[in-house]
Amino acid sequence: MLNKHRLMVPGPTPLPPGVTAAATLPMADERTPEFAEVFTRVIRRLQHVLGTGNDVLMLTSSMTGAFESAVQNLFSPGERVLVLDNGLFGRRWVDMCRAFGLEVTELGAPWGSEIEPAAVADALAADPGITAVLCVHCETSTGVVNDIRSCAAAARSARGPGDGVLVVVDAASGLGACELRTDEWGVDVVVGGGQKALMTPPGMSFVSVSERAWRRQAEARLPRFYFDWSAAALAGRAEIPRTAWTPAIGVLVQMDAALAHLLDEGVEAALERHVLLGRMARGGFLGMGLRLLTPDRDANASVTAAYTPPGIDAERLVRHLADRFGLQMVAGSGAMADRIIRLGHCGYIDPLDIVTALAGVELSLHAMGAPVQPGAGTASAIQVLAHRGPGRLPQGALIALAADHTEENHA
Ligand SMILES: *Cc1c(COP(=O)(O)O)cnc(C)c1O
Repeated sequence: MLNKHRLMVPGPTPLPPGVTAAATLPMADERTPEFAEVFTRVIRRLQHVLGTGNDVLMLTSSMTGAFESAVQNLFSPGERVLVLDNGLFGRRWVDMCRAFGLEVTELGAPWGSEIEPAAVADALAADPGITAVLCVHCETSTGVVNDIRSCAAAARSARGPGDGVLVVVDAASGLGACELRTDEWGVDVVVGGGQKALMTPPGMSFVSVSERAWRRQAEARLPRFYFDWSAAALAGRAEIPRTAWTPAIGVLVQMDAALAHLLDEGVEAALERHVLLGRMARGGFLGMGLRLLTPDRDANASVTAAYTPPGIDAERLVRHLADRFGLQMVAGSGAMADRIIRLGHCGYIDPLDIVTALAGVELSLHAMGAPVQPGAGTASAIQVLAHRGPGRLPQGALIALAADHTEENHA
């Protein structure tokens, strides 16, 4: 049977047609005034999405590279940092900081739980030598969105006058899908990139850098070259603004188109849409009788993770979905790989995409012998869509809604 390819993973994500079309434009020279217009517009648009007046530096790398740039530019060997770790990406930043010779204090929470902001305050109070907090906005491995506003507030109030504790946020899969207000919340450095909610092919990443972060950068002694923020800033201030080295030119052009698409919808409207998509995904999984790893909270709007039914291997389910329906989802990460299925819904995704994905999941589970009634999950999601758009369903109410459905199915 013909199957359309349906990409429903938390990065890379589907492209709006205008973004795909932008890839067919002739190659440009990035040193021209014409390209500088595109380049500076991308930065202006990113500042808007980030809610910041800070510098935004464009880097040619995946987002892990941009995070590495933050470590190299902000710290000196042996410096003490606090890394919040409640999933795969928190873990990655712990490992990265140690690889660069930093002294890392880990503040963990179980996978599927949020980091407690009060624990951030305690950890900072316990060690006055800690100079920065590194945290993950949306922990893509579990779908949990951390309370960055409160974590940043804890960091801000942890020290007396002076520059205090820097706040560095990995906003890879959250930015454009979940609320993040860089300046209002006092976030010094945000790391992001194109291939999640920003609907752009992979290849370009970016960092926003506060005044405070620039002061640290001037004193930091870790070696840096390709990712030297000073080089990026210098090139950005040239008469014809540009990147320090050759960027992924085509990807920048596509990012410009993608950001136009996002701003056309409106950042706030996009966030609301993602809240609805998250509700539908959770309602759908619950409706088909699955247990959620991603808690039923509106904040968790970018990716939804659920446990597979007993006896169903998640990797096999992912294979089945791809082979049978052309639907690309992803299993869990790390130790949870065989027990978790993740539905990515950040970026160019609409409510009916969620219904389709859920239909695939329940059909595959049914075919694999799991006790799932085809239609139960999609019915729950459609109920959410029909009656309970954003702002109308109290948090946690999906569990009750889905329980109703499950009982109906079994009656
Ligand atoms: C996708 C992602 C990254 C970056 O991954 P790259 O493959 O390096 O682009 C970092 N953090 C989180 C939370 C992510 O979801």
